[in-house]
This record gives sequence, C-alpha cells and structure tokens, in this order.
Amino acid sequence: MSLKVSSVIGPHAAYGFNEAVEHAVNQLLPVFRVARENNTFINLDMEEYKDLHLTIAVFKNILDRDEFLTYHSGIVLQSYLPDGREALADLTVWAKERRARGGAPIKVRVVKGANLSMERVDAAMRGWELTVQPTKEDTDANYLVMLEDSLTKENVDAVRIGIAGQNLFTLAYGVLLARDNGLEIGTEVDVEMLAGMATPQANAVRDDVGPLLYYVPVVKPEEYDVAISYLVRRLEENATPRTLCRTCSPSKTAPYSSSKRTVS
Ligand SMILES: Cc1cc2nc3c(=O)[nH]c(=O)nc-3n(C[C@H](O)[C@H](O)[C@H](O)COP(=O)(O)OP(=O)(O)OC[C@H]3O[C@@H](n4cnc5c(N)ncnc54)[C@H](O)[C@@H]3O)c2cc1C
Repeated sequence: MSLKVSSVIGPHAAYGFNEAVEHAVNQLLPVFRVARENNTFINLDMEEYKDLHLTIAVFKNILDRDEFLTYHSGIVLQSYLPDGREALADLTVWAKERRARGGAPIKVRVVKGANLSMERVDAAMRGWELTVQPTKEDTDANYLVMLEDSLTKENVDAVRIGIAGQNLFTLAYGVLLARDNGLEIGTEVDVEMLAGMATPQANAVRDDVGPLLYYVPVVKPEEYDVAISYLVRRLEENATPRTLCRTCSPSKTAPYSSSKRTVS
C-alpha cells in the first residue's frame, strides 16, 4: 500500500520541520500498526523536493521504534534529484544498522521523479536554484548509478530494491544488472510498473522477468474522481514530448503537473 505523507498532514510550514515530522508520525502510527497486524506492506511515496527530507525523517522515525523493528516497509527515491543518490546511501547505512540490531530490511523504490514541472515552476517563480537534474540524460544516468550502487548482494540484504518505471531500457538494465549480481527478481528485487500505461509492454515484461508489481489506485466509489486524476496523470505522461535536446527550453520538454490530489 503506497501512501503520501502530504495525504495525512496537508500543507505545512517549511520552517516547522520538526513539528511537521511529529504531526505526520502521529497521524501515520495507527495506520502502520494496522498494517503490521494485517501483514501489509506500506510504502511512502516521494512527492516534491521540499518533501524529501520530511518523508525520510518520518520513515526513519517510525521504523526506529522497537514495535516496528521487524516490520517491512519502504520509501521512494527519485533520480531526477541530484540528492537522490546521497539519500540512497544514507538510507542504506541506516538500514544496515537496523539489520545488525535484528531488524527487517527496508525497501527503496527507485523512480525518476514525477514532479518535474512543479519543481521548475517553484524555481522560476521564487528565483531558487533548480532542485532537479538539468537534463533527461542526467536523470537517466543518475537512475542507472543508483541501481549500480544498490543492486549488490551485500546491499539488498538491508535494502530491497524496486526498479520502477515504464522505460523498457531502464527496466531491462536493472533486471540484467540484478541477474548478473546473482539477485533474485521477486524476492530481493522487484520490477514495478504503473497501471494505465502501455499494458502490452507490462505484459511482455511480466512474461520475461516473472513477478511484476503493478501500481494501481484504490479508492472508495464515492472518491472515484481521485482515481480519474491518477489516470489523467498517466495520459499526461504518455503525451509528454520525448525530446532529449539539451538546449530546448523547459516549456518544450516538460509536461504540466496535474492536481496535488493525484495518486502520483
Ligand atoms: C511503481 C511506480 C511508482 C512510482 N512512484 C512515484 C513516486 O512515489 N514519486 C514520483 O515522483 N514518481 C513516482 N513514479 C513515477 C516516476 O517517477 C516517473 O515519472 C515515471 O515512471 C516516468 O519515468 P520512466 O522511467 O518510466 O520514463 P522515461 O520516459 O524514461 O523518463 C521520464 C522521466 O525522466 C525525467 N525527465 C524527463 N525530462 C527531463 C528533463 N528535461 N530534465 C530532467 N529530467 C527529466 C522525469 O523524471 C520524467 O518523469 C512511480 C512510477 C512507478 C512505475
């Protein structure tokens, strides 16, 4: 079950970091307890850059508690953030210490990042440094580097990896790397795709690699509009220009971000 921290705390003040972490932890603890009792895996999705450190802090705060020492949970990291690789290294060190204390492994789902337009708008409107990689090639390269850092026998013992995306080259690279390093797909490494995008390709991946984890929105019938926003987002991604031009203006290479209520 994938959750967003913003879904339990809403907008929060950037300067009230500790308060926001405490608020989110208090909101999420009952959910994690029910999940643990029902043997259900919870994954914290990653949102905008401003949520990176918050989400990691919430994740660590919950899993550092004795009651969750043997609970298996996960978090998403984005390669379009230059900080993604460092965050992965930090979580790996922390997860190894947890394993040494008898704890369960964590999972990190590695994605490229879905909020490119919003990050650019924030930077342009506020005159801030851009938080994301300057080009698609940099995002792709960081993705491969993050896979190379993490897909080793030693690291997956503490950090199970989800290779998540729709790009067949990237998925294939991750699968071959995992196989070369003697890792088993489905137990030590997951391959993950989105419902609503290129279903025949997802079927082909499943036929080739075996188990495929599918990301689907689950909503109550009366909240069906939230699922629609998920599907609109998929449509938007499918329609995004695929140019790799280094000199193109951002407006020609990036899609507009959809509603914050989206199940990303
Ligand atoms: C199971 C699953 C869970 C996901 N969960 C999350 C999540 O929690 N948080 C989240 O943010 N995303 C999430 N995503 C979406 C993901 O981040 C990507 O947006 C999506 O998968 C498209 O990337 P790709 O590798 O499939 O496709 P590709 O076409 O190879 O890559 C597209 C991506 O490249 C990057 N990119 C494109 N143009 C540029 C540019 N000019 N400069 C820099 N970077 C560029 C962007 O990140 C864009 O989304 C998830 C995806 C999957 C499959």
